Amino acid sequence: METGLATAGPRPTRLRRIAGALRATFGLVVDVALPQLCASCREPVGDAGLCAACWARLSFIAPPYCERLGIPFTYDPGPGILSMEAIADPPAYHRARAAVRYDEVARTLVHAFKYGDRLELAPTMGRWMANAGRTLLSEADALVPVPLHWRRQWARRFNQSALLAQVISKEVISKEVISKEANTAGNESSTLPVAYNALRRVKATPQQVGLSQSARAQNVQGAFRVPPDGKAAVAGRRLVLIDDVLTSGATMDACARALLRAGAAQVDALVFARVVAGARNPI
Ligand SMILES: [Zn+2]
Repeated sequence: METGLATAGPRPTRLRRIAGALRATFGLVVDVALPQLCASCREPVGDAGLCAACWARLSFIAPPYCERLGIPFTYDPGPGILSMEAIADPPAYHRARAAVRYDEVARTLVHAFKYGDRLELAPTMGRWMANAGRTLLSEADALVPVPLHWRRQWARRFNQSALLAQVISKEVISKEVISKEANTAGNESSTLPVAYNALRRVKATPQQVGLSQSARAQNVQGAFRVPPDGKAAVAGRRLVLIDDVLTSGATMDACARALLRAGAAQVDALVFARVVAGARNPI
């Protein structure tokens, strides 16, 4: 539709020229800052993210898996069957889900995202997570990104978990909008909020890399707290913790404990990649 503004005098033309110049400059800046290389093998790619070969090498996690921990099973034992880990050493969080196995490809992807400033990977990673955590997200009241200690966040300039939570929140909303339009339900829009201030990392813990499972648990003990201004977002709510990687589960466990202590109704965990030590047989 034509508006009067578009044809009125010389000003819009000049504005358009300036906008064009800005776009050109900005485009150039973006091109220089983000060479389109595969995040894993550094081959040039047309689109942001991974090349086709590395994409094919990613190991997506799909059912059958342990209902609680999301650890893939070698065969389908039927619904509701748990892994040995879930029974022997149940975590504080209710369920965990992950998009992919934490293998060599996933590791380079996460490292490019976290340490290589490849922030353009967040939408793709978040979309895969939203897909893997569909059931958890459909029952959730809010997302809680695993926080960094302020000193580490200051050094890195961003919290990768918060970026992923942002993407997932939008994914869930857009899916809901679609289903709402399909059945024209008159419910008011129920968006999935991100509770950025629900958790605080009060202890600057050393990196978990290279630590044993018990050392990891000790490392993060008491590291997380729900601050007074975060309590309202936690009490009585069903929450989904968001992080990039789950290794021993110690960090997620410490976060879940803090949230449950503050009165959360339920805490689930959703990560991009999780360590899976070999294939599992169900009990
Ligand atoms: Zn590649």
